[in-house]
Amino acid sequence: MKNLLILGAGTAGTMVANRLHRALNSDWHITIVDQHETHYYQPGFLFIPFGMYSKSDVVKPRRDFIPAGVELILSPVEVIEPEHNRVRLAKGGRLLNYDYLVIATGAQVRPDQTPGLLEHEWRKTIHDFYTLEGAVALAKVLRTWQGGRMVVNVVDNPIKCPVAPLEFLMLADWYFHEQGIRERVEIIYATPLPGAFTKPVASKYLGEILQQKGIRVVTEFQTERVDPDARKVIAYDEQDIEYDLLVTVPLNMGDEAIARSGLGDELNFVPVDKHTFLSPKYDNIFALGDAAALPTSKAGSVAHFASEAFTDNFLRYIDGLELLPTFDGHANCFIESGFGKGLLIDFNYEVEPLPGRYPLPGVGPFSLLQESEMNHWGKMMFRWMYWNLLLKGQELPLPVRMTMAGKWAN
Ligand SMILES: Cc1cc2nc3c(=O)[nH]c(=O)nc-3n(C[C@H](O)[C@H](O)[C@H](O)COP(=O)(O)OP(=O)(O)OC[C@H]3O[C@@H](n4cnc5c(N)ncnc54)[C@H](O)[C@@H]3O)c2cc1C
Repeated sequence: MKNLLILGAGTAGTMVANRLHRALNSDWHITIVDQHETHYYQPGFLFIPFGMYSKSDVVKPRRDFIPAGVELILSPVEVIEPEHNRVRLAKGGRLLNYDYLVIATGAQVRPDQTPGLLEHEWRKTIHDFYTLEGAVALAKVLRTWQGGRMVVNVVDNPIKCPVAPLEFLMLADWYFHEQGIRERVEIIYATPLPGAFTKPVASKYLGEILQQKGIRVVTEFQTERVDPDARKVIAYDEQDIEYDLLVTVPLNMGDEAIARSGLGDELNFVPVDKHTFLSPKYDNIFALGDAAALPTSKAGSVAHFASEAFTDNFLRYIDGLELLPTFDGHANCFIESGFGKGLLIDFNYEVEPLPGRYPLPGVGPFSLLQESEMNHWGKMMFRWMYWNLLLKGQELPLPVRMTMAGKWAN
């Protein structure tokens, strides 16, 4: 019997477990470990503060998505011992041996890393929407908020779904219009980036949309601390921004178990080959999804393309063939922009998001980097696709590798 061990039963781990369960024969035992019973549809957290989704829209039992025949163990991972090809679990110190290991423990928000965030104003005037608890608490506040200055602050990059803060800003603009208080709300976006987004073309398009919506962008703001009494976010260069309501996107980090295992970088993300996901140190360890230190977005769409590319490659590898550099960093994300509209971006390691049309047989085309109602419906359909197709590793009519079809070269 060969043992494949997957750590983390989130988006990436669950997809890989489903795909490999179908592809591997009965000589293989697949085990997947997670610390929580509940699977969260994290993209849905964005809609909770604005009353568009509730808690029940974004949670389901994890077990429902793990195929019979794959062993699911619920326990935190304590440490990986790569020299011994084994993992120690926190529950009872149980040891799990593996022949191959897939690390898919994701990224977590770490408000504890920024002084002032987690003090007495946390969940009062300081909120987040990257956790379910945070999104639910923020929804409560926004229902009765009478206006003032709302600052959305990204502490540092990389963050999961780098467009989510922009979506939050644009949905907030729409929500306050709906509530009839938009003229009483000042919306500011404080980002460490030189523009609204990481890539120049998208940054220009998105920056213009924010401007049209009356959202002020403060760039190159390197957050050092928050003064919860003075209600100020303060940067390393002592520049500060006052707020009435702070919506923080805290530092994102990989799991502490990665650090304890000596497998992470300074943010606990696992360095791996960017085309094959193989660790440069251990030839039987791979990292996928947000846990991997890769120069592409940390996003569910990336986890999906990555898990497809990985599965085919893994099947070659265990047959003694070399890994092919098949993953091109492909990412695509719908960007909800309020008033029933959205945008779409599609890019990879080499090609930044470009305007144009994204062809999708039977449904598309979707407009790239331009607002449309179609893109909004694409985003809304995504939740159904996530629970019913994506997690189960079903084939989707989306090419794993990015194509230039429909894109206008800038
Ligand atoms: C607000 C928000 C909006 C988003 N919007 C989008 C979007 O529109 N489109 C998109 O593509 N992506 C979006 N994302 C990102 C997407 O949700 C993630 O990129 C995706 O879930 C990553 O999958 P993953 O498997 O790598 O990590 P996760 O799905 O987070 O799974 C990691 C799993 O590992 C487990 N784990 C971690 N440490 C341990 C441990 N020590 N022991 C045991 N288990 C452990 C966790 O419990 C978790 O279940 C959004 C994310 C957020 C927060």
